[in-house]
Amino acid sequence: MKLRVVVLGAGFGGLELASILSAKIGDQLDLILIDKNDSFFFGFSKFDVMFGKKTPEAVRLPYSSIDKPGVRFRQENVLTIDPVSKRVITDKEHYEADVLVIALGANYDVTATPGLREGGNEFYSFDGVLALREVLPAFAGGKVVVGVCAIPFKCPPAPSECALLMHDFITERGLRERSEITLVMPFGVPIPPSPSTSKALIAAFKERNIKFIPEAVVRSIDPARRIAILDEGQELPFDLFLGIPKHVAPDVVLQSGMTMNGWIPVDPVNLKTKFPGVYAAGDVTSVGTPKAGVFAEGSARMIAASILAEYFQGEMPAPYKGDGSCYIEFGGGRVGRVDVDFFSGPKPVGTYVEASAAMVKDKEEFGTVRAARWFCR
Ligand SMILES: Cc1cc2nc3c(=O)[nH]c(=O)nc-3n(C[C@H](O)[C@H](O)[C@H](O)COP(=O)(O)OP(=O)(O)OC[C@H]3O[C@@H](n4cnc5c(N)ncnc54)[C@H](O)[C@@H]3O)c2cc1C
Repeated sequence: MKLRVVVLGAGFGGLELASILSAKIGDQLDLILIDKNDSFFFGFSKFDVMFGKKTPEAVRLPYSSIDKPGVRFRQENVLTIDPVSKRVITDKEHYEADVLVIALGANYDVTATPGLREGGNEFYSFDGVLALREVLPAFAGGKVVVGVCAIPFKCPPAPSECALLMHDFITERGLRERSEITLVMPFGVPIPPSPSTSKALIAAFKERNIKFIPEAVVRSIDPARRIAILDEGQELPFDLFLGIPKHVAPDVVLQSGMTMNGWIPVDPVNLKTKFPGVYAAGDVTSVGTPKAGVFAEGSARMIAASILAEYFQGEMPAPYKGDGSCYIEFGGGRVGRVDVDFFSGPKPVGTYVEASAAMVKDKEEFGTVRAARWFCR
């Protein structure tokens, strides 16, 4: 009998898990990988598309090219999850699993921020990015506000990256002199676990005259007055608002009865949920690491090790460390990196690797290595 694994979501977490299990036990595996979309996009490719550096087609990785022993991809919409029986119903099929893995990521609730849809833009969804591809070239300069609307949010460096890349975008068009850029962030510093990375980002903001407003979120937008309203009622006028909308677990997850405070709680040691044989990976969990691809991938590696240990009745793997490295766009053709470890010590520790032109290649390689690992045999 083959091991029946059903993986919901073919993002960073789902793709990494399917790849590892295929490589280790492909001939003993019957893994169904389900996603409603037909393609994967790296989160960071949204900046390339939004700022017109690449076409959407150039950054698309179609799931139809997945070629992995023991893995079958299904483009279907997951409608119900029963974590007790490990049964899943999609718009096309029913599935039963020996092991069920929920890796459905985080969605956005734009309506949670009054006025955002009518008066602002968001750059976190692919649709938002496609809309900005039209909006940005028409921007004639003025006040730009990059603002986080709620926590938690994916990829904590992304708002800082957006502000720095926006600086480049308007500088290249000769609009910087008549523009202002303000970044609104809920944390005291841009990357709380890494003082050195935060220091480098704050220095980069200063050099470029980007105003950093810490410990605040954008509660609402007044579309008529073109004003962003922060938690204390502070008003920020804007000509262009680039928002990070409130994140929520997908409806099917919220309806499954698996969530607590909006996300799936898991044992941080091994990513098991309280339901036997059911794991959760990545952004859909409340494991305690940031919502980022590298952590989703790390959690999937832990789940794969745990599934394999149980399958072979071997020793359980060492506890999940919650570590990962995130590349950070500093603009000006330079990329930095922060290496963070959340669970090994008493508190999270982050190290900064200085931004350089050379690191641009490392980041590109990060993408090409994963595309090869996740899609090719
Ligand atoms: C602008 C931006 C920049 C980023 N930059 C980085 C970066 O540089 N490094 C980094 O590590 N992370 C980055 N991220 C974050 C990263 O993209 C996410 O954290 C990561 O994709 C999470 O992986 P995941 O597997 O948990 O979920 P996802 O990758 O989001 O995958 C979840 C999948 O589930 C599918 N799904 C959801 N609901 C259903 C349903 N009902 N039925 C079927 N399928 C469904 C979705 O289609 C999706 O493909 C960035 C994000 C953004 C927005």
